[in-house]
Amino acid sequence: MSDIIQLLPDHVANQIAAGEVVQRPASVVKELLENAIDAQATVIKLIIKEAGKTLIQVIDDGVGMSVTDARLSFERHATSKIKNAEDLFELNTKGFRGEALASIAAIAHVELKTKQDNDEVGTEIKIEGSQVISQEVCVTSKGTSICVKNLFYNIPARRNFLKSNTVELRHIIDEFHRVAMAHPNIKFDMYHNGSEVFNLPVSNDRQRIVNIFGGKTNEKLVPVTEETDLVAISGFVGKPEYAKRSRGEQFFFVNNRFIKSPYLNHAVNAAFEGLLKDKAHPSYFIYLRVDPKSIDINIHPTKTEIKFEDEHALYAILRSTIKHSLGQFNVAPILDFDR
Ligand code: ADP
Ligand code: MG
Repeated sequence: MSDIIQLLPDHVANQIAAGEVVQRPASVVKELLENAIDAQATVIKLIIKEAGKTLIQVIDDGVGMSVTDARLSFERHATSKIKNAEDLFELNTKGFRGEALASIAAIAHVELKTKQDNDEVGTEIKIEGSQVISQEVCVTSKGTSICVKNLFYNIPARRNFLKSNTVELRHIIDEFHRVAMAHPNIKFDMYHNGSEVFNLPVSNDRQRIVNIFGGKTNEKLVPVTEETDLVAISGFVGKPEYAKRSRGEQFFFVNNRFIKSPYLNHAVNAAFEGLLKDKAHPSYFIYLRVDPKSIDINIHPTKTEIKFEDEHALYAILRSTIKHSLGQFNVAPILDFDR
């Protein structure tokens, strides 16, 4: 008899986790923006080069990290956001898995600079492929700056799998939009190859949507609001006449987190029944607020799918709320017999 099982070294485990967490540059952008939000930043700057393939940098003015935490943040399962499994159902943060930085540091060159408000100096750490290259004292302002360079430098298969810069940039902008729409109270800037792509001032939901999708969007929006014991709904649907064949502008946010839900999407479509031309998709920007106890976010590492306790009730409320809003705005059906 011989024993053949062994524990994988940390850097290997991190690289495996990275396979799930980091699919492309946009995944890194999402994780870093979410960390900045969890750190209570009021201003967040995203700087990328070559669609994130050579550089992704996020600079925030959040709470920063202590010397010890700065080092620990790159360990797997190291998080300041939950302490036990019950906390998963009281989540007020985007993160909780404690694996984004460990994963990213396993497959890129990472430089972190961070400082807490009361500290005189900050900490600078450089990591490559999970190996700490240096940790030094540095001069920096309150908050955190993370540079992720040469993503997938040690995984040629992944690097070669990346799409053109146009496609990767599109994915990054999509993530940026989602995060920015979920947090209109935060100022966001984005730069690509040295030019400004977005400059989003602090605003409200409606203004943020208009700032992102352009001035003409404003006249297309029909407000949606409802409050029940189960859910508070706010946001907008696009007037039916503006519905497009492409599924571009369809967003659900649950407790300020962008999610995908074919089921709730169906509820919106059902509310538009009889109002849309064949094959047209309505736009929607729907913000749902529910008790964290009534949802499970821990389904997939990217957290874009969640489980609702009472999905059927939510469906019904959403559908009737949107139907009501469309009715109030005197949106006439296209074909009478479709009703
Ligand atoms: P998670 O977000 O799930 O906790 P991460 O690997 O993304 O895991 O981050 C690990 C920890 O590092 C966080 O819990 C947080 O304490 C700290 N951290 C990461 N990014 C920042 C930041 N921008 N500002 C302050 N702290 C941060
Ligand atoms: Mg995180």
